[in-house]
Amino acid sequence: MTFYDFDLTEPIQNALKKEGYTHPTPIQQKAIPVVLEGKDLMACAQTGTGKTAAFALPILQLLAGESPKNRRIRVLVLTPTRELAIQIKESFDAYGRFLPLRSAVIFGGVSQSAQVQSLKNGVDILIATPGRLLDLIQQGFISLKDLGIFVLDEADRMLDMGFIHDIKKVIKLLPLKRQSLFFSATMPPHIVQLANTILTHPESVEVTPVSSTADTISQEVLFVAKENKYALLTHTLERWPDKSALIFTRTKHGADKVVKMLTRSGIRSAAIHGNKSQNARQKALADFKNSHNRVLVATDIAARGIDIDELELVINYELPNIPETYVHRIGRTGRAGASGTAVSFCDTEERAYLKDIQKLIARQIPVTAHPFVTGVEMQIAERIEKSTGFSSGKTQHKKSNSGKKFFRGMGAR
Ligand code: AMP
Repeated sequence: MTFYDFDLTEPIQNALKKEGYTHPTPIQQKAIPVVLEGKDLMACAQTGTGKTAAFALPILQLLAGESPKNRRIRVLVLTPTRELAIQIKESFDAYGRFLPLRSAVIFGGVSQSAQVQSLKNGVDILIATPGRLLDLIQQGFISLKDLGIFVLDEADRMLDMGFIHDIKKVIKLLPLKRQSLFFSATMPPHIVQLANTILTHPESVEVTPVSSTADTISQEVLFVAKENKYALLTHTLERWPDKSALIFTRTKHGADKVVKMLTRSGIRSAAIHGNKSQNARQKALADFKNSHNRVLVATDIAARGIDIDELELVINYELPNIPETYVHRIGRTGRAGASGTAVSFCDTEERAYLKDIQKLIARQIPVTAHPFVTGVEMQIAERIEKSTGFSSGKTQHKKSNSGKKFFRGMGAR
């Protein structure tokens, strides 16, 4: 199947050519026809599956077919974070570059004046985070009475972040006659319940449940004492000297600490987390995307959904305490069929997290050797190996050049 099969208008086809897209991803194959038919959609898909284009392309096609006299908000996309909002706008602008449509993005944490100005200039597609949207509606800068299509993006994350009341307020302000598209990485009962309050006779589509990690991502785990993690990090970066890396920590403080240590080692990096200003976050992301910095260190909420093309290496400096987060983290690499590597450091306290992760993804993550292992980690690895049968009989203990004990878990990658 190619994009030609959707019968998209020529300006969109040309934009897709410019993007270098030839074949729709599975979520695009399933969702685009549903949206083009004007139906409501309930889509279970995580970031990295091509879900943004799955709604943006058919929406642009539907808008291109209308010819309103004035510019007014016909599409609202509600998304949980500023980073996602910006990226969704960039997607609409890229796919709609040859169409006479205008999009705008609004989010909190920055002055509203530029956003208000762009609204005054006239907007067809509005991408918003909930708080700022309600704020600007209350101030009379936004009217949703002409809205035809509503998209709720990352619904599960919205609820995790406590946006449920804001979402309900927004929904009350939408025209009853509308097309609604609902996207969520997971579909537990409370999410389905929310979807039912928004959607009318929806079609459901689903790709890659959250528990499945893309086959294109090579995963490995390295057992290490907390105090040796930083040495292991520089060692890991040296293993792939040409790759840029996204590093995850559980806390903002942890992210700052890693950046401080990397800076001391002369490795260009920046952190992206909730305590950073919007400008600092955007700069960190831009510096990473344009290869000015080799490393971006992120906490989970800040990193959720950030879109970086060709990210080849994800390092879990600290394992997440929520197993689904592991899947989201490593989904930053190996996107759209490209290959990627996910390396996880696991200290003694994190072993329970690893166990939960392996249960969720229903597979053992191969153990990889490294020179900073101590006797304790070696024993842990051996015990895990014995209890799971993973790579049985192939474990080797060696003296490394530095004289330290060296554990080699076979079967890695
Ligand atoms: P998303 O899941 O929307 O965050 O998209 C993940 C990444 O895949 C983004 O970098 C998109 O630019 C890219 N992408 C989306 N659709 C396609 C496609 N059909 N072919 C190639 N890349 C795509």
